Amino acid sequence: MTFSILSIITEITAQISGDFEDFIIENISIDSRSMQNNSGTLFFALKGQNHDAHAYIGELIESGVRCFVVDHIPNDVKDKALFLIVSDTTLALQQTAKYYRKLFHFPVIGITGSNGKTIVKEWLNFLLSSHYSIVRSPKSYNSQVGVPLSIFGANENHNLGIFEAGISQKGEMEKLAAIIQPNIGVFTHIGTAHDDGFENQSEKIAEKVRLFKNCEVVVLQKNEEVEKHIVNAVFTWSFIDNEATVYAEKIAEKDDGVTKLNVFYNGNSFCVTIPFEDAVSLSNAMHCISVLLYLNVDVQTIINSVQNLYPVEIRLQAKKGINNCVLIDDSYSSDYQSLKMALDFLEQQKQYQKKTIILSDIFQGGLPIEQLYKKVALAIQNNKIDRVIVIGETISKYLKELPNVISFHSTAKFLKQFNTESFQNETILIKGARSFNFDEIVVLLEEKNHETVLEINLDAIVHNLNFYKSKVKSTTKIMVMVKAFGYGNGGFEIAKLLEHNKVDYLGVAFADEGIELRKAGIKLPIMVLNPENSSFNAMIAYDLEPEIYSITGLKAFLKLVKEKNIASYPIHIKLDTGMHRLGFEEAQLPELISLLKNNNFVQIKSVFSHLAASDDTSFDDFTKLQFSRFTDYSNEVINALEIKPIRHILNTSGIFNYSNMQLEMVRLGIGLYGVGNSQIENSNLQNVSTLKSVISQIRIIKEGESIGYSRKYRVDQEIRVATIPIGYADGIRRAWGNEKGYVLIKNQKATILGNICMDMMMVDVTNIDCKPSDEVIVFGDYLKVTEIAKAIETIAYEVLTGISKRVKRVYYKN
Ligand SMILES: *Cc1c(COP(=O)(O)O)cnc(C)c1O
Repeated sequence: MTFSILSIITEITAQISGDFEDFIIENISIDSRSMQNNSGTLFFALKGQNHDAHAYIGELIESGVRCFVVDHIPNDVKDKALFLIVSDTTLALQQTAKYYRKLFHFPVIGITGSNGKTIVKEWLNFLLSSHYSIVRSPKSYNSQVGVPLSIFGANENHNLGIFEAGISQKGEMEKLAAIIQPNIGVFTHIGTAHDDGFENQSEKIAEKVRLFKNCEVVVLQKNEEVEKHIVNAVFTWSFIDNEATVYAEKIAEKDDGVTKLNVFYNGNSFCVTIPFEDAVSLSNAMHCISVLLYLNVDVQTIINSVQNLYPVEIRLQAKKGINNCVLIDDSYSSDYQSLKMALDFLEQQKQYQKKTIILSDIFQGGLPIEQLYKKVALAIQNNKIDRVIVIGETISKYLKELPNVISFHSTAKFLKQFNTESFQNETILIKGARSFNFDEIVVLLEEKNHETVLEINLDAIVHNLNFYKSKVKSTTKIMVMVKAFGYGNGGFEIAKLLEHNKVDYLGVAFADEGIELRKAGIKLPIMVLNPENSSFNAMIAYDLEPEIYSITGLKAFLKLVKEKNIASYPIHIKLDTGMHRLGFEEAQLPELISLLKNNNFVQIKSVFSHLAASDDTSFDDFTKLQFSRFTDYSNEVINALEIKPIRHILNTSGIFNYSNMQLEMVRLGIGLYGVGNSQIENSNLQNVSTLKSVISQIRIIKEGESIGYSRKYRVDQEIRVATIPIGYADGIRRAWGNEKGYVLIKNQKATILGNICMDMMMVDVTNIDCKPSDEVIVFGDYLKVTEIAKAIETIAYEVLTGISKRVKRVYYKN
């Protein structure tokens, strides 16, 4: 369905500025960094707490975008494009989506609930795709912005919509309901967790069910507490109450990974096999079966398709590949909308200039096939993909015109014919429909490693960055410390994400860390905290800016830039105000000033200092003293040299506790990685890193035996012990062993028995239902690094930076 600018002007009550020229909107965008913005794009300049897209309009005009929805026109772009001016751009996006939704008359399933929305949506899509041509929310797009963006995926060839809606506050659901306009509601689950946005459980349920206001029916697990809020007809299911519309009974369990159910509906019964055993999956499957029954899908089809349900992997993952490649694993889905998202992620994550995509046939009801592949081809071209490998008969046929295309008729043929050595130093997006088994390609191209991984949640990093940004003025610059391999989380990947999120500066400890970032293509200015005289030459070659903290260092650097005849090389002056680590002391300021006076070889980019106790407000007086010394010393330098450098003194806990000392820049470190220095600070942060391993082996140990080196643990009654392939050489400190520490298996504590070995540890699983190759969490969401640090009397900084390089890092994004 096409729509034009003209058709939405009244919908969003916009004022027009610029030469009005109506055109058909081909694509709605809110992301200035997407390479898919072009002359057919209508761009909504959204404003968040820490982000204002109005700042990027200039760049977007340069990339061809002609029309913007804004709340004001920034000065530098006046008269350069068509502007639709509204009072609230997010609202305008929602109003546009509402208008667009009204152009369609097919049935829509609207899903909400505390958990399970995305899985139920993906499963319904799978179960119904042979009966309908479906448009659905991509990934977990269910927010105030995600829902509108999902709706724009609909077109005239669809005949069913499946959209999810998620809320966190009162008043939000009404807006989403008006956009989704569902006919059939699905209520997945109501969590008991306390949500900040609501007074109590009842208020939370009442808000969520607003989605169903105009539904003909609501599908849910029989639950009086929820049902009393629902005014519509209900279609319920239950495992315990045979009064429910659909009643299901488990047939004896066999521990073989599947569950057989007898399902009773409408006076008949049938038996289904669900390929899961856990309660959550069974409940998700029952929601789906109920919707299918409501839609009159015949029982045999239900039986046949439900047994093929699969684990849903929604997040995009970047993994280390062979020969220095980076793999973006999206081997579970293939539709046009998720292709566009994956291409954006590829651009963000590319570590090497060369971009490759391996793509299967696209399965998407909706567009006529030629048109679909035309759009796919265009997206690939816009994203400047160097090498395109297509697998599948259909895609091979339609994409053969593209330059750089290599095609294969099946995954098996590709695996047989393709030489893996031809993949070198490139970023590879692997995207295919499930039936193509692209996971086999991932296995082939993935770097083989042992099973311990440190998973890094890139969304959480962005969340934490935004939290600290919200603590300072929007004009205050942010330097992020990525020293020590990004506090153990990875250097390049994090730097790339920060560049994408437009921080102002990066900080590293040593020149070689900065050089590594430059070699990987990072363009942000980088300050080096400990420049050694021997590295000055390399620093200049790689455009790295030294912290100058001594007269000797300054003289040596000045000598070098003079020899090289360089003008205005950026440097940073460190002042010692009480940390007593590095920096100029008060008595040295006159000499510093005389060396820098009338010196055009260097430019003083910033003057800074470091607080010794910003994390501990009981040292409040000392922190204030440091700040006043900094003000005095820096003024002396600034006035004498008549310069206007950036001034900065705050690290993470400084930002949290002393935002009045923010000056022109702050230096964010540990907080970005999800660790604050107080409980309140931590409650605002999201966990970034999860260290995972697996169980290698399980054994029963009899009374009287002992476990591990030096017979440290004595067995006084028979126990069950699991061996985990992670030890002190991976960075797990021995102090955490001998029953002081534990790991989590199936969310339960498994105490570490005896000494931690170099590469392994043994844990007590007597009371845990687990088996070899089950997942083990060493730290993460529910066992925080801070807890471990406290128990072994150190700080989280040390635990995080101690995770050795042999542990593979995996980056993901929801
Ligand atoms: C490491 C470091 C920071 C960041 O400290 P956090 O406590 O991790 O926020 C800031 N400034 C300097 C000079 C540093 O060395």
